[in-house]
Amino acid sequence: MAHELPPLPYDKAALEPYFDALTMEIHHDRHHKAYVDNLNKAIAGNAVLEAKSLCDLIKDLASVPDNIRGPVRNNGGGHWNHSFFWKILGPNAGGTPTGKLADDIKSTFGSFDDFKAKFEAAGIGRFGSGWVWLVSHAGKLEIVSTPNQDNPLMGKAVAGCEGKPIIGADVWEHAYYLKYQNKRADYLKAFWNVVNWNAVAANY
Ligand code: MN
Repeated sequence: MAHELPPLPYDKAALEPYFDALTMEIHHDRHHKAYVDNLNKAIAGNAVLEAKSLCDLIKDLASVPDNIRGPVRNNGGGHWNHSFFWKILGPNAGGTPTGKLADDIKSTFGSFDDFKAKFEAAGIGRFGSGWVWLVSHAGKLEIVSTPNQDNPLMGKAVAGCEGKPIIGADVWEHAYYLKYQNKRADYLKAFWNVVNWNAVAANY
């Protein structure tokens, strides 16, 4: 079965004024859609790859034939990353995490503010396009950054397909340029206002 573009789980204007409606529309309806369409195109006719879940596909890129590995990596990663991204955002969100996640952020990074500063610095430090993530790795919280549409699941022998990345922030210019122009730092500060901590906690 072909991969499908998931609907945005809220209205495109729901994250205003932090993420503007036009950016959300273009980001979801055009950029994310293009990743889905190009992934389907890349694996068309390969019954083994067509039968795999999206996560199984991108976790095991070594099993993808050389001639389509690049497109599967870029577009499969793009599809997974954006599907994940929409779900950790939401309207009337922001604030602070609670419970075990809040405790572990504090014990790992010093404080919630220290965590945010380190996450933002990792996003600002990603040269060109990519993502910054909070992941749970070997029982510890870590901030990592990946180039292009790579993600922390790729090339990792992680059990299960969900739950390792906990937060992901898209730092491609297409995620912020209309509203924030070249000011990626301002976009990353605004990001915290639309993080749905209930969804994030469920990933943990
Ligand atoms: Mn994007």
